[in-house]
Amino acid sequence: MSVLFTDVFVYDGDHPAGMVGPTDLLVLGNRVASIGADARRLFDEGLGQDGPHRVIDGRAQKLIVPGLVNAHFHSPANHLKGSLRSLPLEMFMLFESPSDEQLVPTPREAYVRTMLAALEMLRTGVTTVQDDAFLMPFPTSEIIDAVMQAYADSGMRASVALDQPEVREADKLPLSQTADPHVRAALSASPPMGAAALLDMYDHLISRWHGSEGGRLTAAVSVSAPQRVSPEYFAALDDLSRVYRIPLFAHMLETKLQRTLATTQPRFAGRSLVEYTADLGLLSERMNVIHAVWVDDHDLDLIASSGAIVAHNPVSNLRLGSGVAPFRKLKDRGITTCLGIDEAICDDSCNLWGVVKMAGLIHNVSGLESDEWPSPHEVLDSLWVGGAAALLRSDELGAVREGFLADLVVLDLHSRAFTPFNDLRGQLVYCESGNSVELTMVDGRIVFEDGAISTVDESALLDEARDLFARKRPAVERARHDAEAFLPHYKGLVHDAALADVGMNRWVGSA
Ligand SMILES: [Zn+2]
Repeated sequence: MSVLFTDVFVYDGDHPAGMVGPTDLLVLGNRVASIGADARRLFDEGLGQDGPHRVIDGRAQKLIVPGLVNAHFHSPANHLKGSLRSLPLEMFMLFESPSDEQLVPTPREAYVRTMLAALEMLRTGVTTVQDDAFLMPFPTSEIIDAVMQAYADSGMRASVALDQPEVREADKLPLSQTADPHVRAALSASPPMGAAALLDMYDHLISRWHGSEGGRLTAAVSVSAPQRVSPEYFAALDDLSRVYRIPLFAHMLETKLQRTLATTQPRFAGRSLVEYTADLGLLSERMNVIHAVWVDDHDLDLIASSGAIVAHNPVSNLRLGSGVAPFRKLKDRGITTCLGIDEAICDDSCNLWGVVKMAGLIHNVSGLESDEWPSPHEVLDSLWVGGAAALLRSDELGAVREGFLADLVVLDLHSRAFTPFNDLRGQLVYCESGNSVELTMVDGRIVFEDGAISTVDESALLDEARDLFARKRPAVERARHDAEAFLPHYKGLVHDAALADVGMNRWVGSA
């Protein structure tokens, strides 16, 4: 397949204006073959040899940008948008995915819920997702296959890991006493799946899906968070990450409670989760450090020297009251940042443009030194350059460049967001909402065009989702009602953490 885009502007992150053109751009197979004067000649020469072909005329009103990278995401909550009140993470998680037999998804439910977000992402120009999928109560080969098949069918590029705790609940939280026998039992219960069985599931994920669909689908590995796994399992996943050269996802210091674990959970012996990970020898350039809100200068130095990438999720951090990540401190150390939605249940959309705008705004309340506020250029670099780096694929993703993968989005410059045209980067960050997306191409294949997804029957899928999850709703409500019994204990832990002096403040508006 060859596609020639004529008379289009092309995003160029290195150019002062942020774009070049009008020009021509040729896609051959799944790569950008040529940008500029040679594109049409190569297209003409290949006619009849490169299979089907198309010419798309931009009439000097279209802009091609790299496909957006949603660098941190959990698909299992895709069907739960708007369903939970705002709560601190530790309390939110009680209700987000309570352990309940009736909430265990069928493969079809897992498929449909995965597809829900994939469709929304493709419609809004997200071509790649890093899905840190928590498959409650534990992953099975059937559910893994359902998730991966949804990404395969959607046409989206996806890198999927299994986000699964592997220690007792009591080991993840501050050491504390409770008189409630139900809470005590839950805190000391064995995890639903141990390391050996989880590694078997990774065997399945990697052998069946890593590199499938012509390389569009890949595996990643996830510890969920350092406090949620044993050092042995952590090291085993790091080995897989090294052998397959795939990212390792680790939530770190998302909340103030997690910061207090240094002193409230004996196994960390006074060390922050970042220090603990570095001491294990597991902080590496293959790691995506997710959130990094309650990091101190020493943590940031460790992250910087390791080359790890930080996934910034500012909308989720607001929704759960986690705080504001120290963006300027990250940038001052040269730490690469990428952007993530985190979850449909705490964004509550799968539209990354909202995260882009939030990343461009929230750090302005750090103080009046406006030179330290994020520039649109930095935000867009996080979106694209950082997103590609998070995937360990900077050599072929994150830019519209000859030889790079053809993950492209056509934006209409004759739209409200870009009319009148003033400043490309400013309008991408502050004005665009996804409404200007006219066409989305992944791996050289057009998957969204003229308002319609071309890979699946979206309307039928939405109908099915509405029906499936409406039937599930009573079980969700009942499980959440049951989870209320645990709330006082978790509320107490969060309250104690809120009062602790950890030598920093990541909240705004407080005294
Ligand atoms: Zn997350």
